[in-house]
Amino acid sequence: MSGLSLIQRLQNRVRNAARDAVISHHKRSRAVLFSDTTLRDGEQMPGATLDPEQKLQIALALEAAGVHSLDAGFPASSEADVEAIRRMIGVVKKPVLTALCRTLPSDIDAAERALNGNPMHKRGVSLFCGTSPIHRTEKLNKSKTEILKIIAESVEYAAKTFRIIAFSPEDASRTEMNFLCECYREAIDAGATTIGFPDTVGVLTPEKAADCIKAIQDSVPNIDRALLAVHFHNDLGLAVANTLACIQEGANVVQCTVNGIGERAGNAALEEVVMALSLHPDQYQRTFRMDTTKLSPLCRLVADLTSVSISRMKPIGGDNIFATEAGIHQDGLLKNPDTYLPFRPEKVGAEGIQLVLGRHSGRNAVSHRLAQLQLSVSDGAVGQVMELIKQQPRGTVVDDRLLMTLVDGLADD
Ligand code: MN
Repeated sequence: MSGLSLIQRLQNRVRNAARDAVISHHKRSRAVLFSDTTLRDGEQMPGATLDPEQKLQIALALEAAGVHSLDAGFPASSEADVEAIRRMIGVVKKPVLTALCRTLPSDIDAAERALNGNPMHKRGVSLFCGTSPIHRTEKLNKSKTEILKIIAESVEYAAKTFRIIAFSPEDASRTEMNFLCECYREAIDAGATTIGFPDTVGVLTPEKAADCIKAIQDSVPNIDRALLAVHFHNDLGLAVANTLACIQEGANVVQCTVNGIGERAGNAALEEVVMALSLHPDQYQRTFRMDTTKLSPLCRLVADLTSVSISRMKPIGGDNIFATEAGIHQDGLLKNPDTYLPFRPEKVGAEGIQLVLGRHSGRNAVSHRLAQLQLSVSDGAVGQVMELIKQQPRGTVVDDRLLMTLVDGLADD
């Protein structure tokens, strides 16, 4: 600092004050900021590679859905990531575009080259460095003191060209809490505007995740000057539950991927976190800007472009979410859709309720479908059609064509 002129020092002070004001605004507003990492961590899933044009398409759909920031790629790792980021600049305007970097000046320079067409308040870097005992000894061969120095130096270097700087201690969930908090304090002192808590190998439970977030907020002395972000992997099927537990405990930013795609068991699914918040405002008491009606089409777009298909039962985006074959449920849904649904299809932009005809379907659903197809059939004939449906081989889905064939067969008798 002492080498800076008076004007530079004043400029720094003004810039820091502006930065602190933005952070305290986000904290006071109790907003949950969605940071999407489909294009970076999601794409790390084996076989989910996207080309730059496809990434742009997904980025635009994420912008329309309302994400606050987009983890757009890892410029130092591939030219294709640089190309994808460059295509987004000037086109994807609302979200902050961030690039992943190791704690190396060359990575930060590569991020700067990829992002420099974007205004300062719409571009950021996301630095990471392993901090857990196994990462320190087996991977990095560095002491705690050396790690702290790496964090301070890399964040200070990034602060020369970026105003939005996230620092994440990789494998945070397996790092000693005291040391983790020291890493955060060091990063914030050096200029980090967000500190991340990644559960890199997906081992936490919701209760332990919430305890960690509480401990970080209680023990990092300069936490008021940075946002707290969380990033969960789904190895125990708990990524969404863990994310929600941390929101409840006060986390400001949540990192997710569409359809939960990502390495191993994937990441926290964006659409699931959004819908849980949307259905339980009384519990979370947090605001967020996501447009739920964009979710279902977004899930389909990502599945199509990555060629990673969605399980039929996948919450929000799966084919079966608004489909039922059970007679009692079909009868209820025809009377009022809310009888057997947590939310209506239009809430997530899905097509509508599908009453699938099969051996469990009741009279009401069969005659409803026949009427929709403008097939006039007597009450007795409806009973016969139901009998024929029951005789179909196991697993048969009675689509409209098969239904019409069955009705035609009746007429011939
Ligand atoms: Mn990850």
